[in-house]
Amino acid sequence: MSNELNLDGVGMTSQRTRDRLVRRLRDQGIRDERILDVINSTPRHAFIDEALAHRAYEDTALPIGFNQTISQPYMVARMTEVLFAGGPLNRVLEIGTGSGYQAAILAQLADKVFTVERISGLLEKAVSRFKLLGLRNIQYKHADGGMGWPERGPYDAIIVTASPRIIPDELIAQLAEGGRMIAPVGHGRNQQLTVTTNAMGELSSEVLEAVKFVPLLAGKA
Ligand code: SAH
Repeated sequence: MSNELNLDGVGMTSQRTRDRLVRRLRDQGIRDERILDVINSTPRHAFIDEALAHRAYEDTALPIGFNQTISQPYMVARMTEVLFAGGPLNRVLEIGTGSGYQAAILAQLADKVFTVERISGLLEKAVSRFKLLGLRNIQYKHADGGMGWPERGPYDAIIVTASPRIIPDELIAQLAEGGRMIAPVGHGRNQQLTVTTNAMGELSSEVLEAVKFVPLLAGKA
């Protein structure tokens, strides 16, 4: 048997199981067919350890080591849909690369993706997956993403995939005119998926639903 990862998938990682996941996401209210297409063609099993690959197309978060998780597919789809609701996106910033799955989805929909991760062991694996899939429009950085990535901003969209207690001002400052940011804001069991928009310097926030993400932590690891 070869150790080569089978990107097409077999058995529990086959296209059939991906089709089933996409049907489920559609049933849960995801409407953007471009996003559903990208989820359908992206091998989520390549973003998790082989021992868990058979669960890759369940609609659930899964451990990726270092006490972190790859987000639930519904949450990836929902957050992506909210970001693209305002039209096409040129530059997108992600805080919390994790497995790289969310960045890989965004990279197939936006012109450029910038992603920041504080745990080097996770970032290295994510970058090897971007290469494996031939995704060339993702720039990455090993840093505390609570500060954003000011040198590359402003961004048309910012997605925070770990939970800050409050929305960091530094991130708001990197949002372009007309831009939108989505983040799970809060603490522990009390987190709200919140979308913040910047229209002519005027900020407005809307709470979408209760969610559960790992916390946004300070510093590098
Ligand atoms: N988007 C990821 C989800 C990963 S979970 C995926 O698709 O797999 C959240 C990630 O945020 C973890 O990898 C965690 O290490 C990272 N994180 C937490 N605080 C951070 C910070 N201040 N800066 C950058 N990354 C952070």
